[in-house]
Amino acid sequence: MKPAPFTYHRPRGLAEALATLADVGAHGKVLAGGQSLMPLLSMRLASPEHVVDVNAVPGLDGVEVTRDEVRVGALVRHTDLERHDAACTAIPLLRQALRYVAHPTVRNRGTVVGSVCHADPAAELPAVLALLGGRVVAESTGGRREVAASDLYVGLLETCLRADELATAVVFPVPPGRSRSAVVEVARRGGDYAVCGVAALVRVDDAGGVDDARAAYVSVGDVPPVLDLTEPMRSGGPDAAGAYAVSRLRCEGDIHASAEYRLHLVGVLTARALREATA
Ligand SMILES: Cc1cc2nc3c(=O)[nH]c(=O)nc-3n(C[C@H](O)[C@H](O)[C@H](O)COP(=O)(O)OP(=O)(O)OC[C@H]3O[C@@H](n4cnc5c(N)ncnc54)[C@H](O)[C@@H]3O)c2cc1C
Repeated sequence: MKPAPFTYHRPRGLAEALATLADVGAHGKVLAGGQSLMPLLSMRLASPEHVVDVNAVPGLDGVEVTRDEVRVGALVRHTDLERHDAACTAIPLLRQALRYVAHPTVRNRGTVVGSVCHADPAAELPAVLALLGGRVVAESTGGRREVAASDLYVGLLETCLRADELATAVVFPVPPGRSRSAVVEVARRGGDYAVCGVAALVRVDDAGGVDDARAAYVSVGDVPPVLDLTEPMRSGGPDAAGAYAVSRLRCEGDIHASAEYRLHLVGVLTARALREATA
């Protein structure tokens, strides 16, 4: 199918992009990598009157790494971040998750910020952002604000960002020292969206004990859930944490998996991710 007709805008600067978004309001959509938006338009699951392509806006393609955070601009592609050694050394979880995002061709074009904004619960990066307690920088003609991941996701494919806002960056906090992470998934084929996935972050103390353990989930619920697994991890290890996760989460069935199978995966993958992170 072909998209419904729309007016295409290609602003050349941030101020022009924000002014265009303010003009078109709820009738417009930002186009970044197009890896999620274009299929939606082509299938007419979305039919905005205006598409605002931000690819010609300068200054949005940087990755900044400091001691405390990794800041990723709106035009940084998945591949750019995956190959960014300083960012992935500061937060190994980024590369651990990015290798599961689709295929290289999609990662070459799709953006990190686009994935975060698309708010697909089957995507890896919203879960990573939620697990790390990150935030999104949103700009409009009215100013700039920062939205915490815990406030960002309000429903399936839905964030609290306004139609006139452009997410100019996403900020991933660097986990404290002695943190270790792992991402594990089950997908029907390599590169497919996960039937279920788990990103785990564990902080160990000097004696190797568990200071803090938490996990975020992919393809579980409408928004990425984050669980504090510290107590079950301390008392019974990864298997106890897996059983705890099963007791706390609810899954839906779909054409890829029944609710029961997906919940079974929650338990198995939670234990596996924690084992891998602490190995
Ligand atoms: C075959 C295939 C397989 C895939 N598999 C996976 C997978 O396994 N895991 C995974 O995580 N993803 C997967 N994806 C999606 C891919 O990661 C996309 O790149 C990502 O979802 C969206 O990024 P984008 O830059 O392409 O955004 P776009 O498609 O351009 O936009 C997506 C949405 O986000 C909004 N948006 C984008 N950027 C901004 C911004 N800066 N500010 C405000 N709103 C914005 C758009 O308006 C739109 O609503 C797959 C895609 C394809 C085509």
